Amino acid sequence: MQSTPLADAHCHLDQLADPDADIQAALTAGVTRMLSCSEDPDSMRATLELSGRYPGVVLPGLGLHPAVAVHLDDGAVDASLSFLQDRLDSAAFVGEVGLDYLHAGTQLERDRQNVILKELLGLAARARLPVCLHSRRAEREVLEVAVVSCEESGLPVLLHWFTHSVKLARRASSVPLIYMSAGPSVLHNPAAMAVAAAIAAERLLVETDAPVPFGGESARPAWIPRVVQAIACARGLPEGELRSMLDQNLERFLYSSRSWSPHPPSGSTHEMPARFA
Ligand SMILES: [Zn+2]
Repeated sequence: MQSTPLADAHCHLDQLADPDADIQAALTAGVTRMLSCSEDPDSMRATLELSGRYPGVVLPGLGLHPAVAVHLDDGAVDASLSFLQDRLDSAAFVGEVGLDYLHAGTQLERDRQNVILKELLGLAARARLPVCLHSRRAEREVLEVAVVSCEESGLPVLLHWFTHSVKLARRASSVPLIYMSAGPSVLHNPAAMAVAAAIAAERLLVETDAPVPFGGESARPAWIPRVVQAIACARGLPEGELRSMLDQNLERFLYSSRSWSPHPPSGSTHEMPARFA
């Protein structure tokens, strides 16, 4: 029996030195879908170009990263947001967006990141797209934003590279639309594995955040099978069972909240988004 294909729920394919080689390596390793985030207009453009060349394999996220946004003036933020808004029909999700207090030292900068994040969540809600959230030194704040966003929009969010604490993993698991992803840190860090093992089974995803350097090497989507094997072992689950659970989780994260159906009933005037037409 063929094993269920895997997915990298958060990576930055446009930042890899040779994205084509890494996409091929991932496909060979059984990683058939990659949710590729962007951080600014240039990376949105590059990510959309990749998804055009690998339809159904590279699932593009459009976003303005908080560490980038905080250094832009108002005009550049507005231009980035309208660039993103104009291309939402081609997006699979909105990301990477969030709060990064490492890059926001003053209250003014933190307030600015919060205002921009709210704008981005509003755009995602109007387009009925799930959101991939980044947090650094702002884990609790991002969780609070996620809870409110899920309640107001009914759309799922992914708290990516979720390693904060077992307590926070349990708290986030109690909110139905919040997903959390574990990355290669589980391979070497028992505390990160303990957090991954505490995430509710139906809310877990896996990622690499490629090409973030890890253990002296750039992470790659082809690392996903190792991450999955390690988590299956820690959770005491057969790997096949974890694979199919991860696959179902990703389907729900990406598609459960869409207000349209890919097969509208006959006579429906509902218009299909371009990306699935
Ligand atoms: Zn990232």
